[in-house]
Amino acid sequence: MLKNYIITNIGQLMGILPKETLLLKGEEMGHINALHNAFMEVEDGQIKSFGLMEVCPETDAQIINIHGDWLMPGFVDSHTHMVFASSRHNEYVMRLQGKTYEDIADEGGGILNSAKKLQDLDEDVLYKNALKHAEEAMSEGTLALEIKSGYGLTVDAELKMLRVIKRLKNNLPIVIKSTFLGAHAFPAEYKANHQGYIDLIINEMLPVIAKEELADYIDVFCDKGFFNVEETNQVLVAAAAIGLRAKIHGNELGLTGGVQTAVDNNALSVDHLEHLSDVEINYLLNSETMPVILPGSSFFLKIPYAPGRKMIDAGLPVCVASDFNPGSSPHHNLWFTWSLACLYNGLMPAEAFNALTINGAYALGLSESHGSIAIGKKACFIQTRSFESINEIPYWFAQSHAKKVWY
Ligand SMILES: [Zn+2]
Repeated sequence: MLKNYIITNIGQLMGILPKETLLLKGEEMGHINALHNAFMEVEDGQIKSFGLMEVCPETDAQIINIHGDWLMPGFVDSHTHMVFASSRHNEYVMRLQGKTYEDIADEGGGILNSAKKLQDLDEDVLYKNALKHAEEAMSEGTLALEIKSGYGLTVDAELKMLRVIKRLKNNLPIVIKSTFLGAHAFPAEYKANHQGYIDLIINEMLPVIAKEELADYIDVFCDKGFFNVEETNQVLVAAAAIGLRAKIHGNELGLTGGVQTAVDNNALSVDHLEHLSDVEINYLLNSETMPVILPGSSFFLKIPYAPGRKMIDAGLPVCVASDFNPGSSPHHNLWFTWSLACLYNGLMPAEAFNALTINGAYALGLSESHGSIAIGKKACFIQTRSFESINEIPYWFAQSHAKKVWY
Protein backbone atom coordinates (compact mmCIF):
# COMPACT_ATOMS: atom_id res chain seq x y z
CA MET A 1 0.00 0.00 0.00
CA LEU A 2 1.03 3.62 -0.56
CA LYS A 3 2.70 5.34 2.36
CA ASN A 4 2.60 9.02 1.28
CA TYR A 5 -0.37 10.53 -0.51
CA ILE A 6 -3.10 13.16 -0.44
CA ILE A 7 -6.72 12.18 -0.88
CA THR A 8 -8.64 15.07 -2.43
CA ASN A 9 -12.28 15.97 -3.06
CA ILE A 10 -13.57 13.96 -0.13
CA GLY A 11 -17.32 14.63 -0.17
CA GLN A 12 -17.54 14.10 3.57
CA LEU A 13 -14.67 13.31 5.93
CA MET A 14 -16.41 11.74 8.92
CA GLY A 15 -15.40 10.88 12.44
CA ILE A 16 -13.00 13.74 13.22
CA LEU A 17 -12.16 13.87 16.91
CA PRO A 18 -9.42 15.44 19.03
CA LYS A 19 -6.60 12.90 19.30
CA GLU A 20 -6.96 12.81 23.08
CA THR A 21 -10.59 11.62 22.85
CA LEU A 22 -10.39 7.95 23.77
CA LEU A 23 -14.12 7.18 23.84
CA LEU A 24 -17.54 8.84 23.58
CA LYS A 25 -20.34 8.36 26.05
CA GLY A 26 -23.97 9.30 26.60
CA GLU A 27 -25.03 12.34 24.57
CA GLU A 28 -21.58 12.73 23.03
CA MET A 29 -22.28 9.59 21.02
CA GLY A 30 -25.01 11.32 19.04
CA HIS A 31 -22.64 13.63 17.15
CA ILE A 32 -20.28 13.02 14.27
CA ASN A 33 -17.81 15.73 13.38
CA ALA A 34 -17.34 15.96 9.63
CA LEU A 35 -15.83 18.21 6.97
CA HIS A 36 -17.48 18.63 3.58
CA ASN A 37 -15.28 18.83 0.50
CA ALA A 38 -12.07 17.99 2.25
CA PHE A 39 -8.57 16.66 1.70
CA MET A 40 -6.44 14.40 3.83
CA GLU A 41 -2.68 14.05 3.72
CA VAL A 42 -0.99 10.79 4.75
CA GLU A 43 2.70 10.40 5.49
CA ASP A 44 4.41 7.17 6.53
CA GLY A 45 1.07 5.50 7.07
CA GLN A 46 -0.21 8.18 9.46
CA ILE A 47 -2.60 11.10 9.06
CA LYS A 48 -0.43 14.19 8.59
CA SER A 49 -3.09 16.82 7.97
CA PHE A 50 -6.65 17.31 6.78
CA GLY A 51 -8.93 20.23 6.07
CA LEU A 52 -11.12 21.91 3.49
CA MET A 53 -10.11 21.66 -0.17
CA GLU A 54 -9.47 25.44 -0.31
CA VAL A 55 -6.43 24.96 1.91
CA CYS A 56 -5.16 21.71 0.39
CA PRO A 57 -1.34 21.95 0.46
CA GLU A 58 0.82 21.60 -2.63
CA THR A 59 3.28 18.76 -2.19
CA ASP A 60 5.12 16.15 -4.24
CA ALA A 61 3.00 13.39 -2.68
CA GLN A 62 0.73 11.38 -4.95
CA ILE A 63 -2.72 12.95 -5.27
CA ILE A 64 -5.71 10.64 -5.26
CA ASN A 65 -8.94 12.36 -6.24
CA ILE A 66 -11.97 10.46 -4.92
CA HIS A 67 -14.50 12.76 -6.62
CA GLY A 68 -16.93 13.36 -3.76
CA ASP A 69 -16.88 9.92 -2.19
CA TRP A 70 -17.01 9.79 1.59
CA LEU A 71 -14.21 8.74 3.92
CA MET A 72 -14.53 7.44 7.46
CA PRO A 73 -12.24 5.73 9.96
CA GLY A 74 -12.02 1.96 9.57
CA PHE A 75 -14.29 -0.11 11.78
CA VAL A 76 -12.78 -1.70 14.87
CA ASP A 77 -14.30 -5.11 15.60
CA SER A 78 -13.50 -5.60 19.27
CA HIS A 79 -15.09 -9.04 19.73
CA THR A 80 -14.67 -12.00 17.38
CA HIS A 81 -14.03 -15.72 17.52
CA MET A 82 -12.58 -15.77 14.02
CA VAL A 83 -10.42 -18.86 14.41
CA PHE A 84 -12.60 -21.96 14.22
CA ALA A 85 -12.62 -25.32 12.52
CA SER A 86 -15.83 -25.28 10.55
CA SER A 87 -19.36 -23.97 10.35
CA ARG A 88 -22.09 -25.25 12.69
CA HIS A 89 -24.88 -25.24 10.18
CA ASN A 90 -26.20 -28.56 11.54
CA GLU A 91 -27.01 -26.82 14.82
CA TYR A 92 -28.61 -24.02 12.85
CA VAL A 93 -31.00 -26.59 11.39
CA MET A 94 -31.62 -28.03 14.88
CA ARG A 95 -32.57 -24.55 16.00
CA LEU A 96 -34.86 -24.14 13.02
CA GLN A 97 -36.50 -27.33 14.23
CA GLY A 98 -37.17 -25.65 17.58
CA LYS A 99 -34.22 -26.50 19.82
CA THR A 100 -32.60 -23.76 21.92
CA TYR A 101 -28.90 -22.89 22.16
CA GLU A 102 -28.91 -24.39 25.64
CA ASP A 103 -30.62 -27.63 24.42
CA ILE A 104 -27.96 -27.97 21.75
CA ALA A 105 -25.17 -27.42 24.28
CA ASP A 106 -26.74 -30.09 26.52
CA GLU A 107 -26.61 -32.52 23.61
CA GLY A 108 -22.89 -31.98 23.13
CA GLY A 109 -23.20 -29.28 20.50
CA GLY A 110 -22.29 -25.66 20.95
CA ILE A 111 -18.83 -24.63 22.06
CA LEU A 112 -17.83 -28.21 22.88
CA ASN A 113 -18.70 -29.25 19.33
CA SER A 114 -16.46 -26.49 17.96
CA ALA A 115 -13.72 -27.54 20.37
CA LYS A 116 -13.82 -31.19 19.32
CA LYS A 117 -13.49 -30.28 15.66
CA LEU A 118 -10.71 -27.83 16.32
CA GLN A 119 -8.64 -30.18 18.46
CA ASP A 120 -8.35 -32.55 15.48
CA LEU A 121 -7.54 -29.93 12.90
CA ASP A 122 -4.10 -29.11 11.54
CA GLU A 123 -2.79 -25.67 12.48
CA ASP A 124 -2.16 -24.68 8.86
CA VAL A 125 -5.74 -25.45 7.85
CA LEU A 126 -7.02 -23.50 10.81
CA TYR A 127 -4.81 -20.59 9.81
CA LYS A 128 -5.98 -20.64 6.19
CA ASN A 129 -9.65 -20.70 7.24
CA ALA A 130 -9.18 -17.76 9.59
CA LEU A 131 -7.12 -15.81 7.05
CA LYS A 132 -9.97 -16.03 4.56
CA HIS A 133 -12.44 -14.66 7.11
CA ALA A 134 -10.07 -11.88 8.16
CA GLU A 135 -9.46 -10.82 4.57
CA GLU A 136 -13.20 -10.75 3.90
CA ALA A 137 -13.79 -8.64 7.01
CA MET A 138 -11.03 -6.25 5.93
CA SER A 139 -12.59 -5.85 2.51
CA GLU A 140 -15.81 -4.81 4.28
CA GLY A 141 -14.01 -2.13 6.28
CA THR A 142 -12.92 -3.85 9.50
CA LEU A 143 -9.44 -2.39 9.91
CA ALA A 144 -8.60 -3.47 13.46
CA LEU A 145 -9.75 -6.67 15.02
CA GLU A 146 -9.80 -8.79 18.14
CA ILE A 147 -9.71 -12.58 17.91
CA LYS A 148 -10.30 -14.91 20.84
CA SER A 149 -9.19 -18.46 21.50
CA GLY A 150 -11.68 -20.64 23.38
CA TYR A 151 -12.53 -23.42 20.93
CA GLY A 152 -9.54 -25.48 22.05
CA LEU A 153 -10.24 -26.20 25.72
CA THR A 154 -7.13 -28.37 26.02
CA VAL A 155 -3.63 -27.06 26.59
CA ASP A 156 -2.48 -28.01 23.09
CA ALA A 157 -5.57 -26.81 21.26
CA GLU A 158 -5.78 -23.46 23.07
CA LEU A 159 -2.12 -22.79 22.34
CA LYS A 160 -2.67 -23.86 18.73
CA MET A 161 -5.42 -21.27 18.38
CA LEU A 162 -3.30 -18.54 19.94
CA ARG A 163 -0.42 -19.38 17.61
CA VAL A 164 -2.78 -19.10 14.64
CA ILE A 165 -3.86 -15.67 15.88
CA LYS A 166 -0.20 -14.69 16.24
CA ARG A 167 0.43 -15.71 12.61
CA LEU A 168 -2.53 -13.59 11.50
CA LYS A 169 -1.11 -10.67 13.49
CA ASN A 170 2.25 -11.07 11.79
CA ASN A 171 0.93 -11.54 8.27
CA LEU A 172 -1.94 -9.08 7.97
CA PRO A 173 -1.48 -5.33 7.51
CA ILE A 174 -4.03 -4.38 10.19
CA VAL A 175 -3.75 -4.44 13.97
CA ILE A 176 -5.06 -7.64 15.55
CA LYS A 177 -5.38 -8.17 19.30
CA SER A 178 -5.35 -11.66 20.74
CA THR A 179 -7.55 -12.69 23.66
CA PHE A 180 -7.11 -15.93 25.59
CA LEU A 181 -10.53 -17.46 26.26
CA GLY A 182 -9.55 -20.86 27.65
CA ALA A 183 -12.36 -20.25 30.16
CA HIS A 184 -15.02 -20.39 27.44
CA ALA A 185 -16.70 -23.56 28.71
CA PHE A 186 -15.88 -26.56 30.87
CA PRO A 187 -14.76 -29.55 28.76
CA ALA A 188 -16.95 -32.65 29.27
CA GLU A 189 -14.29 -34.42 31.33
CA TYR A 190 -14.25 -31.51 33.81
CA LYS A 191 -18.02 -31.19 34.12
CA ALA A 192 -17.89 -32.47 37.70
CA ASN A 193 -14.46 -31.04 38.43
CA HIS A 194 -14.47 -27.36 37.59
CA GLN A 195 -11.46 -26.68 39.78
CA GLY A 196 -9.44 -29.21 37.79
CA TYR A 197 -9.98 -27.25 34.57
CA ILE A 198 -9.34 -23.89 36.24
CA ASP A 199 -6.06 -25.30 37.58
CA LEU A 200 -5.20 -26.42 34.05
CA ILE A 201 -5.78 -22.89 32.76
CA ILE A 202 -3.78 -21.30 35.55
CA ASN A 203 -0.93 -23.77 35.84
CA GLU A 204 -0.55 -25.14 32.31
CA MET A 205 -1.89 -22.59 29.84
CA LEU A 206 -1.11 -19.15 31.31
CA PRO A 207 2.61 -19.78 31.88
CA VAL A 208 3.15 -20.75 28.20
CA ILE A 209 1.02 -17.82 27.04
CA ALA A 210 3.19 -15.48 29.11
CA LYS A 211 6.44 -17.03 27.88
CA GLU A 212 5.49 -16.98 24.20
CA GLU A 213 3.58 -13.68 24.43
CA LEU A 214 0.53 -15.27 22.86
CA ALA A 215 -2.20 -13.03 24.24
CA ASP A 216 -2.99 -9.36 24.86
CA TYR A 217 -6.14 -9.96 26.94
CA ILE A 218 -7.92 -12.58 29.02
CA ASP A 219 -11.61 -13.43 28.62
CA VAL A 220 -13.93 -15.62 30.69
CA PHE A 221 -17.50 -16.66 29.85
CA CYS A 222 -18.96 -15.58 33.19
CA ASP A 223 -22.56 -16.66 32.91
CA LYS A 224 -25.24 -19.14 33.88
CA GLY A 225 -24.03 -22.68 33.11
CA PHE A 226 -20.48 -21.54 32.39
CA PHE A 227 -18.04 -19.89 34.85
CA ASN A 228 -19.51 -18.46 38.03
CA VAL A 229 -18.22 -15.30 39.68
CA GLU A 230 -15.81 -17.05 41.98
CA GLU A 231 -14.38 -19.20 39.18
CA THR A 232 -14.08 -16.14 36.92
CA ASN A 233 -12.21 -14.21 39.61
CA GLN A 234 -9.69 -16.98 40.02
CA VAL A 235 -8.84 -16.95 36.32
CA LEU A 236 -8.73 -13.15 36.10
CA VAL A 237 -6.46 -12.75 39.10
CA ALA A 238 -4.00 -15.32 37.73
CA ALA A 239 -4.07 -13.67 34.30
CA ALA A 240 -3.55 -10.19 35.79
CA ALA A 241 -0.38 -11.49 37.40
CA ILE A 242 1.08 -12.03 33.92
CA GLY A 243 -0.20 -8.67 32.67
CA LEU A 244 -3.39 -9.69 30.87
CA ARG A 245 -6.28 -7.26 31.28
CA ALA A 246 -9.78 -8.69 31.19
CA LYS A 247 -12.45 -8.55 28.52
CA ILE A 248 -15.42 -10.50 29.84
CA HIS A 249 -18.36 -12.33 28.30
CA GLY A 250 -21.13 -11.39 30.73
CA ASN A 251 -24.87 -11.10 31.22
CA GLU A 252 -25.83 -12.93 28.04
CA LEU A 253 -27.92 -15.58 29.75
CA GLY A 254 -28.97 -13.82 32.95
CA LEU A 255 -28.16 -11.32 35.69
CA THR A 256 -25.32 -13.44 36.95
CA GLY A 257 -22.78 -10.92 38.22
CA GLY A 258 -20.71 -10.72 35.03
CA VAL A 259 -20.78 -6.93 34.92
CA GLN A 260 -19.80 -6.53 38.57
CA THR A 261 -17.00 -9.08 38.19
CA ALA A 262 -15.69 -7.28 35.12
CA VAL A 263 -15.73 -3.87 36.82
CA ASP A 264 -14.23 -5.22 40.05
CA ASN A 265 -11.32 -6.57 37.99
CA ASN A 266 -10.99 -3.29 36.03
CA ALA A 267 -11.82 -5.09 32.79
CA LEU A 268 -11.29 -3.15 29.59
CA SER A 269 -14.70 -4.31 28.38
CA VAL A 270 -17.69 -6.41 29.34
CA ASP A 271 -19.45 -7.88 26.36
CA HIS A 272 -22.99 -9.15 25.56
CA LEU A 273 -25.22 -7.53 28.24
CA GLU A 274 -28.52 -8.83 26.90
CA HIS A 275 -29.60 -8.96 30.55
CA LEU A 276 -28.91 -5.65 32.24
CA SER A 277 -30.68 -3.95 35.15
CA ASP A 278 -30.20 -0.49 36.65
CA VAL A 279 -27.82 -2.06 39.16
CA GLU A 280 -25.38 -3.07 36.41
CA ILE A 281 -25.80 0.24 34.59
CA ASN A 282 -24.89 2.17 37.74
CA TYR A 283 -21.96 -0.11 38.35
CA LEU A 284 -20.65 0.57 34.83
CA LEU A 285 -21.11 4.33 35.23
CA ASN A 286 -18.41 4.39 37.86
CA SER A 287 -15.90 2.38 35.89
CA GLU A 288 -13.42 2.42 33.02
CA THR A 289 -14.99 -0.72 31.56
CA MET A 290 -16.52 -0.36 28.08
CA PRO A 291 -19.90 -2.08 27.67
CA VAL A 292 -19.95 -3.94 24.34
CA ILE A 293 -23.17 -5.07 22.73
CA LEU A 294 -23.38 -7.78 20.09
CA PRO A 295 -26.60 -7.53 18.11
CA GLY A 296 -25.49 -10.18 15.60
CA SER A 297 -25.79 -12.95 18.18
CA SER A 298 -29.17 -11.69 19.43
CA PHE A 299 -30.38 -11.67 15.84
CA PHE A 300 -29.09 -15.14 15.04
CA LEU A 301 -30.13 -16.77 18.32
CA LYS A 302 -33.39 -14.83 18.50
CA ILE A 303 -32.66 -13.80 22.08
CA PRO A 304 -33.29 -10.35 23.61
CA TYR A 305 -31.11 -7.47 22.47
CA ALA A 306 -28.95 -5.54 24.91
CA PRO A 307 -30.67 -2.29 25.98
CA GLY A 308 -28.31 0.04 24.13
CA ARG A 309 -30.72 3.01 24.17
CA LYS A 310 -31.13 2.79 27.92
CA MET A 311 -27.37 2.54 28.41
CA ILE A 312 -26.63 5.66 26.35
CA ASP A 313 -29.49 7.59 27.97
CA ALA A 314 -27.96 6.72 31.34
CA GLY A 315 -24.71 8.32 30.20
CA LEU A 316 -22.72 5.19 29.38
CA PRO A 317 -20.44 4.66 26.42
CA VAL A 318 -21.51 1.78 24.18
CA CYS A 319 -19.41 -0.23 21.76
CA VAL A 320 -20.89 -2.52 19.10
CA ALA A 321 -19.04 -5.55 17.70
CA SER A 322 -19.81 -8.53 15.47
CA ASP A 323 -19.19 -11.49 17.83
CA PHE A 324 -18.28 -13.36 14.63
CA ASN A 325 -18.34 -17.07 15.51
CA PRO A 326 -19.73 -20.27 14.02
CA GLY A 327 -22.36 -20.96 16.67
CA SER A 328 -24.19 -17.76 17.48
CA SER A 329 -23.09 -15.04 15.05
CA PRO A 330 -21.77 -16.31 11.74
CA HIS A 331 -21.27 -12.88 10.20
CA HIS A 332 -18.56 -10.23 10.32
CA ASN A 333 -20.19 -7.50 8.24
CA LEU A 334 -20.26 -4.47 10.53
CA TRP A 335 -22.53 -2.57 8.16
CA PHE A 336 -25.22 -5.10 8.99
CA THR A 337 -24.30 -4.86 12.68
CA TRP A 338 -24.75 -1.08 12.35
CA SER A 339 -28.30 -1.59 11.04
CA LEU A 340 -29.13 -4.13 13.74
CA ALA A 341 -27.83 -1.82 16.50
CA CYS A 342 -30.18 0.90 15.24
CA LEU A 343 -33.22 -1.28 14.69
CA TYR A 344 -33.00 -3.49 17.76
CA ASN A 345 -30.66 -1.95 20.34
CA GLY A 346 -32.26 1.46 19.84
CA LEU A 347 -29.14 3.36 18.78
CA MET A 348 -29.31 6.29 16.37
CA PRO A 349 -27.15 5.96 13.25
CA ALA A 350 -24.51 8.40 14.55
CA GLU A 351 -24.35 6.61 17.90
CA ALA A 352 -23.82 3.26 16.21
CA PHE A 353 -21.11 4.78 14.02
CA ASN A 354 -19.23 5.99 17.10
CA ALA A 355 -19.83 2.63 18.76
CA LEU A 356 -18.14 0.86 15.83
CA THR A 357 -15.20 3.23 15.53
CA ILE A 358 -13.85 5.21 18.50
CA ASN A 359 -15.54 3.09 21.16
CA GLY A 360 -14.46 -0.10 19.38
CA ALA A 361 -10.92 1.23 19.49
CA TYR A 362 -11.24 1.88 23.23
CA ALA A 363 -12.43 -1.69 23.81
CA LEU A 364 -9.16 -2.89 22.27
CA GLY A 365 -6.86 -0.32 23.86
CA LEU A 366 -6.36 1.25 20.43
CA SER A 367 -7.93 4.70 20.83
CA GLU A 368 -4.59 6.44 20.43
CA SER A 369 -4.07 5.06 16.93
CA HIS A 370 -7.50 4.01 15.60
CA GLY A 371 -11.19 4.85 15.65
CA SER A 372 -11.24 8.47 14.48
CA ILE A 373 -9.72 10.97 12.08
CA ALA A 374 -6.99 12.81 13.97
CA ILE A 375 -3.47 13.94 13.12
CA GLY A 376 -0.97 11.23 14.01
CA LYS A 377 -3.45 8.37 13.90
CA LYS A 378 -2.97 5.36 11.66
CA ALA A 379 -4.18 5.96 8.13
CA CYS A 380 -6.86 3.31 7.90
CA PHE A 381 -10.10 4.40 6.31
CA ILE A 382 -13.17 3.26 4.47
CA GLN A 383 -14.17 4.96 1.24
CA THR A 384 -17.88 4.84 0.45
CA ARG A 385 -20.06 6.46 -2.14
CA SER A 386 -21.71 9.70 -1.08
CA PHE A 387 -25.06 9.54 0.74
CA GLU A 388 -27.80 12.06 1.39
CA SER A 389 -27.05 11.76 5.08
CA ILE A 390 -25.23 9.45 7.43
CA ASN A 391 -28.67 8.17 8.45
CA GLU A 392 -28.96 6.59 5.03
CA ILE A 393 -26.06 4.20 5.64
CA PRO A 394 -27.69 1.75 8.11
CA TYR A 395 -31.01 2.15 6.30
CA TRP A 396 -29.54 0.15 3.37
CA PHE A 397 -29.18 -2.91 5.55
CA ALA A 398 -27.24 -6.11 4.83
CA GLN A 399 -24.87 -4.63 2.29
CA SER A 400 -21.26 -3.59 2.52
CA HIS A 401 -20.73 0.06 1.63
CA ALA A 402 -16.94 -0.19 1.50
CA LYS A 403 -16.01 0.84 -2.02
CA LYS A 404 -12.35 0.76 -1.08
CA VAL A 405 -10.41 0.28 2.13
CA TRP A 406 -7.19 2.14 2.92
CA TYR A 407 -4.64 0.80 5.39
ZN1 LIG B 1 -18.27 -13.97 22.03
